[in-house]
Amino acid sequence: MSLPDEDARVTILGAGIVGICTALSLVERGVPVTIVDRGDPGQETSMGNAGIVSPWSVVPQSLPGTWKSIPKLLFGYGRPVSIRASSFAQLIPWGASFLRQGTEAKVREASEAMTLLCGPSIELYEKHLLCTGTESLLCDSMYVHAFRDGSRANLKALEYRIRKEKGAEVELIGADSLAQLEPALSSEFKAAILIKGQARVRSPGRLGAVLAEKAQALGAEFVRDTVREVSRFGSGWVIKCANRRLQSKQVVISMGAWSPDLLKSMKLKLPLMAERGYHIEFRNPGVEVNNSVMDVDAKVVASSMEIGLRIAGQAEFAPVDAPVDPRREAQLTRIAKSAFKSLNTESPSFWMGRRPSFPDSLPMLGEVPNKDGLFFNFGHSHYGLMMAPKSGEVLAQVLCGERPNHSLDAFSPARFSV
Ligand SMILES: Cc1cc2nc3c(=O)[nH]c(=O)nc-3n(C[C@H](O)[C@H](O)[C@H](O)COP(=O)(O)OP(=O)(O)OC[C@H]3O[C@@H](n4cnc5c(N)ncnc54)[C@H](O)[C@@H]3O)c2cc1C
Repeated sequence: MSLPDEDARVTILGAGIVGICTALSLVERGVPVTIVDRGDPGQETSMGNAGIVSPWSVVPQSLPGTWKSIPKLLFGYGRPVSIRASSFAQLIPWGASFLRQGTEAKVREASEAMTLLCGPSIELYEKHLLCTGTESLLCDSMYVHAFRDGSRANLKALEYRIRKEKGAEVELIGADSLAQLEPALSSEFKAAILIKGQARVRSPGRLGAVLAEKAQALGAEFVRDTVREVSRFGSGWVIKCANRRLQSKQVVISMGAWSPDLLKSMKLKLPLMAERGYHIEFRNPGVEVNNSVMDVDAKVVASSMEIGLRIAGQAEFAPVDAPVDPRREAQLTRIAKSAFKSLNTESPSFWMGRRPSFPDSLPMLGEVPNKDGLFFNFGHSHYGLMMAPKSGEVLAQVLCGERPNHSLDAFSPARFSV
């Protein structure tokens, strides 16, 4: 057996679902990998999300007319969006750039790029989960967008038109059909749009742990440490951690919303916001949903997970490590109780996570210009669970000198003039 070529070793910083999937795609190609994280693999943002895995999540967050809905997002039902004053300086330019993305032409451009990453998400997770004995973590699902005001369920809206053009099966149903599909859902909901042909993960945290174990079994080395700095060292890079120094010719930064902290010492400033979200999970809910169900007013998704009913979503713009807003727990409980009248809200668990969001909803994926051997794979915003396997695959192709058969310009680290 030949020994791995140490010069080819890739060091991945951050073991969220993105780093884990990147490690898997590399070790499958025989590349030696070290992956550094200060915590357990897959247990930050990648643990608490809503579990949606969809080839049809191909619509970015900024749409034509989004600006008109800002008052409703801030002050309407469920107050889906909130802003902390401490984030204003970063949010104002980010928000302006976000709103500029909201033209039909730009939405369609972003949608093409999203299709590349979301399109094969289900097959790639099936492949990664194969022979782990945990294949049932991923199950078939629809995405049910549930509306209290039925007149707002409009298949002609751009976001549904784009999905249909790309081949998604999308259907509008009324209150009776919705009640049959999701009997636990309150009769407050008068209509729904179904997006078919999706999947959902029944425990995103366990998925991360299982895939990390698989990567380890295939040879990836996991190091528990806090990364403090990355700097040039000869023709490679030195990674200064709290307890050790590592050297590597090739380094991938996949630290999600914390990635920009690391880039400051390299004088790289990127428009990445921590778009924080929350979940509440009820262990003995007494109700079940059959699909991923979004309350479109409150912007939360309900999903029956392995250990209970999870209600996840909303957006809070705040510094990445600002304290949790404890008021969100009661607010999410109220939203949950209103959507599921027979919900047992005893013994909830409450969680906050950070979506790493660029204004165009796309990640940075690829080699950093003028920084040979330094690669980015972060910024997957609302879609990181589903984009992770293809992002890992694409980056492994780039690192192994394989030519991806599609342009990666939309994900270029240079697009915001790094
Ligand atoms: C409420 C909510 C619902 C969501 N729902 C969905 C969904 O249904 N489907 C979907 O596709 N996406 C969803 N998302 C988005 C998705 O969860 C994220 O895009 C994804 O988890 C990002 O993964 P990541 O690996 O980039 O980041 P993370 O999971 O945050 O991983 C980053 C890792 O870097 C490590 N790290 C950070 N700093 C350091 C350091 N200095 N040293 C060492 N390690 C460090 C952290 O410990 C962490 O493990 C949701 C997000 C939220 C908040």
